[in-house]
Order: sequence, then C-alpha cells, then structure tokens
Amino acid sequence: MTKNVRVRFAPSPTGPLHIGGVRTALFNYLFAKKHNGTFVLRIEDTDQNRYVEGAEQYIIDALNWCGFPFDEGPNINEKFGPYRQSERKHLYKQYADELIASGNAYYAFDTAEALDKHRKEHEANGKTFIYNWHNRLKLNNSLSLSAEEVQSKIAAGEDYVIRFKSPQDETLHLKDIIRGDIKIDTNILDDKVLFKSDGMPTYHLANIVDDHLMEISHVIRGEEWLPSLALHILLYRAFNWEAPEFAHLPLILKPTGKGKLSKRDGDKLGFPVFPLEWKSPEGDISRGYKEDGYFPEAVVNFLAFLGWNPGTEQELFSLEELVEAFNLNKVNKAGARFDPDKTKWFNHHYMQEQDNLKLAEAFKNHQEELKTIDVDYIEMVVSLVKERATFINDFWGLSHFFFTSPSNYDEKAFKKAIKDDTAEILTKVKRIITHIDDFTVNALQTDIKGWITDNNIGFGKIMMPLRLALVGALQGPDVFEIMFLIGKNETVKRIDNLIEKI
Ligand code: GLU
Repeated sequence: MTKNVRVRFAPSPTGPLHIGGVRTALFNYLFAKKHNGTFVLRIEDTDQNRYVEGAEQYIIDALNWCGFPFDEGPNINEKFGPYRQSERKHLYKQYADELIASGNAYYAFDTAEALDKHRKEHEANGKTFIYNWHNRLKLNNSLSLSAEEVQSKIAAGEDYVIRFKSPQDETLHLKDIIRGDIKIDTNILDDKVLFKSDGMPTYHLANIVDDHLMEISHVIRGEEWLPSLALHILLYRAFNWEAPEFAHLPLILKPTGKGKLSKRDGDKLGFPVFPLEWKSPEGDISRGYKEDGYFPEAVVNFLAFLGWNPGTEQELFSLEELVEAFNLNKVNKAGARFDPDKTKWFNHHYMQEQDNLKLAEAFKNHQEELKTIDVDYIEMVVSLVKERATFINDFWGLSHFFFTSPSNYDEKAFKKAIKDDTAEILTKVKRIITHIDDFTVNALQTDIKGWITDNNIGFGKIMMPLRLALVGALQGPDVFEIMFLIGKNETVKRIDNLIEKI
C-alpha cells in the first residue's frame, strides 16, 4: 500500500454501540494497524433529534474495553479536529454553496406538505415518488424558478434545503474492495438533500467533506451504507476530490441465519448484543458482554470471525495476531451468522489464559462468602477449577466446597458411593490421613494409594465416598488436591460428618 492509510470509525451517538458497530470499529482498527496507519474516531452527530446523552462516552469506553482505542479523535491527537460534526457545523455550508456554484446542487423550497402530497399522489397510482431528473423541473427549486425568484425567496427567509443534482443517463462503475465492481444506473438515484433547513448538513455531505478534510484513505463500514456509495462517489467527483477506497462489511445475521441481528434480539434470545451494559436515559438496562463475564479477548476474537476468516483452520487469535492475519480481501460478501455458543467457547478458551491471581481477585469481589478469605488461597482454588469454567460466575458452583463444608449430600451420589462397608473403610482412611505429618498432595497420594494397593480394595470404593465426604457430590477436581487445600483438620471433620450420616 503506497498511500498513507487513514481510516475512520464514524458512529452516530444515538444509543449504545451494538456489536455490529464494534465489528466495524475492529475491522477499521485491524486494517489501520496492519498498514501502519491511523484509526480515527469521528462522532457523526448532525442529527440533533437522535442525539442520546452518554452515547459518545459509551462508544469510547467500549473501544477502550475491547482493547482497540482510536489514535485520533475527540481530545486525542486532534490533528484534523474537531472530531464531532456538531462542532464542525460552520464548515459545511461553504461546500454546499460550492456545489450550487458548480451546478451540482440546487436550492429546493418544497414544503414537507407539498412533498407529502406528491408522494401520496404517486402512491395512489402505484408509483414511488423520486425527486430527481424526471420531475425536478416541475418542483419548487432553483432549477425551475428564475434567479430573481430564488433570491427573493431566500431574502424573505423562506425555508430551503440544498439537494444534489444527480446525473441522468449515466452508468457508474463503482469499486468495492469486498464486493468487486458494481454498476449503477444514475437514473434510479434521487436528488438527496445535502443541507437541511436547520442549517445542518445531512450525513451525506458532512461525511464526504470530513472524510476528505481528514484525509481518509479507506472507508470501511457496514453494508447498510452500500446504497449510498453512488451518491458519495458522485459527490467526490463534483468536488473534484480523490475518493477514498470503499469496503462494505457484510450484515450480521441472527443465530438462525435468517434476518439481520437486531438490537432487540439480545433480550429476546438471552445473550448480549452490546459490549458494555447500557442504561438508557429512561432507565432501561441492556446487558453487556463485559458485565456478563466475557473477556475482551473473547469478544474481539468472535467479532473478527463475523465476516472474516483467515482461510486456515486457526480460530484462536489474539488482537496482535489478527492485525498480522487481517486482510480485507478475505472478508465475505455474504451475511455472517452470529453464534452465541461460539462466543462462550471463545470465553472458555480465554479463561484458561487469564492470570490466576487476577481471576481470584475478581472472584473474591464477586462472591460475598469470600470477603474474608485470603486471596492466595482463592488463587490456588481458581487454578484447580478454571479449566471447567467459562465465566467467573461459574467459579462458586465449581469450588464452594473449598470454602464451606458440604451441608448435604447429593442423593444419587450417596446411593452410588455408600455401601455396607463404607463407614468402616472411611474410618481406616481417616486414620491414615491423621497420621500424615507432611500434609502434601504427594504424601496423601502415596499413603492412600499405597494402602489401597496393599489391602487390595477397589479404588472407587474409597475414592467415591471420600469425594462425597469432601464435596457433597461426585464432582470436583482431584481429591488429593482438595484435601491438601482444605487441610488435615477440615478433611477429617468432613469424613466424620459423612460417617455419621451413614
Ligand atoms: N454515521 C454513520 C453511521 O452511524 C457512518 C457511516 C459511514 O461510516 O459512512 O453508521
């Protein structure tokens, strides 16, 4: 790549960023880092009606939590700032004027009521009203009115918008890195509004002006923007600017593979669709991956596979490995099915890679019963149970017996483990345990296993009731590890408890 790579993530702060948006941000980041480029965050807040308090901070927090913060954006390296479009308001009008002067745009005075009437009339005849070449001369705009009429309307303060004059009878040849060549007949395009009566640019104008001024080299965004590509390319042409390259990422589909994954699917189907928990200004809470116990590494890994794959069998990638392997040419056109079970699979994997002390601290904070327990002890427990855990939330269920004595015994396990001679055998095992001075896993193993072999007793005959005594069920990690961690006194006490119940 010869040119300086500069990409931008340009969300509108209209609510929490859903995972589709996070995926777009991630692919921009990966592409930027792969090419030693810059990842820019631009806040597209020109639509004041849809602005939601807190959404911008949420976006920034989400990128930080995921581990791919932006290089340039609000308050960071403001080389091409400001990065909020609402703070760039003053910039756009001159560009709209420039397009009017060059004949690429025009003033339109049609009222909302008049346009509505046209729409309804068309509908009544089974047609769709499109404001463009075929009817613009019959409508109320600077192409159909005289220069004086236009001047006097503007001088009288009449409301107007500025529309793009889309060309007639042309075939556009567009290029998309993911989709290849796309042909568009300009006759189907409508004359999109570029500048609104409230003095604000629309998305289309602001987006193109900013991408140009911010020297964006590649636009990587969701498929929903593909229909706008023709207009955007025409705008670059009208301004005589070099257009960036475009890549439109595939849709993210529901777990069934049918239909686009929506923001509401999370609550309906029981998994988060947001990176972080979001509390709406009305007080509604949407769950987030972070609060649900996912590690950012797992979220990044599963997001990377929504539409991209390395072309090999490898599924586990750190962020650095993704940067290395990422290639826009390997992104698919077809929608990517979102699989919540796969996200758990990734989390289980990244759980194994977490530092035990950190996990222990998180577990301690999370579990009331651990408030007074030494974190070093919790760390040892965590090291024994994490291989069976997907979330920190699973730890207590897998390890409570390291902290509290069983209060009852699983019924089925009891029937299975307890035989006529169990009490007698347990009493003998207890004696051996009592006599071990050097209370280590090794010593426990050698002495107990040795005794089993010497006496020619079935291994399960001892290990099952012993496990039941310690855990309350026939589950858990190695029995010798459990005894070692809870200590001699507690081990003996638990064996006594079980003997009493037999
Ligand atoms: N503001 C648009 C959005 O919310 C940005 C689209 C683009 O990247 O051009 O998705």
